[in-house]
Amino acid sequence: MYEKVDAGIIEALRRIVGESNVLVDSEALEPYTHDETVGLRADPEVVARVRSAGQAAEIFRLAQRERVPVTPRGAGYGLSGGAVPTCGGIVLSLEKMNRILEIDQENLMVTVEPGAITGDIHRAVEAEGLFYPPDPASLDSCTIGGNIAEDAGGPRAVKYGVTRHYVCGLEAVLPSGEIVTCGGKLVKNVTGYNLIQLLIGSEGTLAVVTKIVLRLLPLPKVQVDLLVPFDDFQAAADTVSDIIAHRVLPTTIEFMERDSVLAVERLLERELPHRDAAAHLLIQLDGNSQEAVDADYEVVGELCLKHGALDVLVARDSRTRDRLWEARRLIIDALNHASPVNHMEDVVVPRAELPPLLQGIKEIGRRHDVRVVCFGHSGDGNVHVNVLKDEIPDERWETLMPKVTEEIYTLALSLGGTITGEHGIGATRRRYLHLALDETQIELMRGIRAVFDPHHILNPGKIFP
Ligand SMILES: Cc1cc2nc3c(=O)[nH]c(=O)nc-3n(C[C@H](O)[C@H](O)[C@H](O)COP(=O)(O)OP(=O)(O)OC[C@H]3O[C@@H](n4cnc5c(N)ncnc54)[C@H](O)[C@@H]3O)c2cc1C
Repeated sequence: MYEKVDAGIIEALRRIVGESNVLVDSEALEPYTHDETVGLRADPEVVARVRSAGQAAEIFRLAQRERVPVTPRGAGYGLSGGAVPTCGGIVLSLEKMNRILEIDQENLMVTVEPGAITGDIHRAVEAEGLFYPPDPASLDSCTIGGNIAEDAGGPRAVKYGVTRHYVCGLEAVLPSGEIVTCGGKLVKNVTGYNLIQLLIGSEGTLAVVTKIVLRLLPLPKVQVDLLVPFDDFQAAADTVSDIIAHRVLPTTIEFMERDSVLAVERLLERELPHRDAAAHLLIQLDGNSQEAVDADYEVVGELCLKHGALDVLVARDSRTRDRLWEARRLIIDALNHASPVNHMEDVVVPRAELPPLLQGIKEIGRRHDVRVVCFGHSGDGNVHVNVLKDEIPDERWETLMPKVTEEIYTLALSLGGTITGEHGIGATRRRYLHLALDETQIELMRGIRAVFDPHHILNPGKIFP
C-alpha cells in the first residue's frame, strides 16, 4: 500500500528541514521506535524534525506525492502507541517547535508551539500569577501537542476539566499540505462546525497541530493536600463517591492501592506514611480564601473518617506536597519496575460507579489468578488498571491478556463507562473499538478521517480496527 522511503525522499527532507534535522542511522532512530506503551515497537525509515508549520506542510506534500506514511510525534510519552510508526515511513517530530510564544495578561491566554513541555507552560504562566490546570502525571516530559492529540487529563480534571476545555485556537497542517487557523483568543466562537474540538483527541490522525492558544485562569491563592490511608480497599472507593455526592468538588481525588504505593517506595527508597494501608486517597482542595478551603477540608476529612480512614494527614507546605505528588507521579514507572511486564488499562465509569468497578476488577484478577493493581483519577471515575505478569509463563500470558482485557472493558461498559478515559485508542486498543462504539459511529469517524486524509498517509494503523 505504501512506498518505501528512498534516497530521493531523504534528500528532499534534508532540503526542507536541513541536514541536521533528518535522522536516518539506526542509533539515532532508536528513541523514535517506541513510546511508553509496554511491548510495542516499530522502526521509522526516517525522522524529520520540523521548526515551522511551513516545513510540516512541505513534508506532507512530499509524502502525499511519494505515498509514504507520516507519524506525528511529540515527546513519545503516550500510552497507546499513537506516536509509534507502525507502518514505517516518516516520523514528523515536533520536539524543536517548543517555544512559549506569548503570555497575554489582558486576555488571559497563552500562545505556544506544540513541542512545548506541559510543565514548562505551567511554570511560565504561574510565574505571572496565572494557571493552566490540565496536569497529566507525565507533565515534565510530555508536550502540549501530544496533550491536544490525546485530550490529556490529569488529577485536576475533577474540578478543572481536561485539555479540551482550555483550547481556544489552533493552527494545524492538513495531510494535503494546507495550513488552517481555527479560532483564536476567543472565549466564545460558534462560527460553523467546531474544528478545534474535532482535532482535539484525534490522536494525530487528522492534522498536525503547529500552534495553540490556551485559556488561562487566575492562580488559586490557597491549596491544601490530604493523604488519607484506609485499611479497606473498598472503603476508600466508597469515600470517593460519597465526597462527590456531598457536593464538595476537590481539585483532585487520586486513588492509590497498596501495591502501587509499595512499588513507589522501592523506587524512591523512602517510606510513605501508613505504608501498609490497603489504599490511599490523595485529595487536593484549592480556592481563593483560606476560610472556604478549610470548610471543604472539614467536610472531606469527616467523610473520610466516617468511612474508616486510618488518618487524615495534611500537607500545607510545598515541600511535603511535592513529596506526595512525586510519589503519585512515579507510580507508572514504579509498577513497570515491579514486574517484567505491566499491562495498563485506562477505563472510565460514571463517578458513582467507581466502587462496583473496583470490586469487579479485583474479581477478574482473582478469577484468572493474576495480580491486578489499581490507581488513578478516581474523582473522575478513571482507573488505571495494571495487570502484572510477574512470574506467569509467556505462553499463559499471551492467552490470558486478551481475555482479561476484554473482561475489564465489558465490566466498564456494563457500568455505563468506556474503554479509555485519557490514554486513547492508538495502536493498542483499536481491535476493541467495536466493543465501545457501534458500526454507525465507527463509519462516521472513518468518513471524517477520509475527508481530512483521502490518501491515508497520516498516522495509519491507529484508532480503527
Ligand atoms: C508516567 C506517565 C504518566 C502519564 N500520566 C498521564 C495523565 O495523568 N493523564 C493523561 O492524559 N495522560 C497521561 N500519560 C500519557 C501521555 O503522557 C499523554 O498521552 C501525553 O499527552 C502524550 O504527549 P506526548 O508529547 O508524549 O505525545 P506522543 O506520545 O509523542 O504522541 C501522542 C499522540 O499524539 C500525536 N501527536 C503528538 N504531537 C502532535 C501534534 N503536534 N499534532 C498532532 N498530533 C500529535 C501522536 O501522533 C500520537 O498519536 C502518562 C504517560 C506516562 C508515561
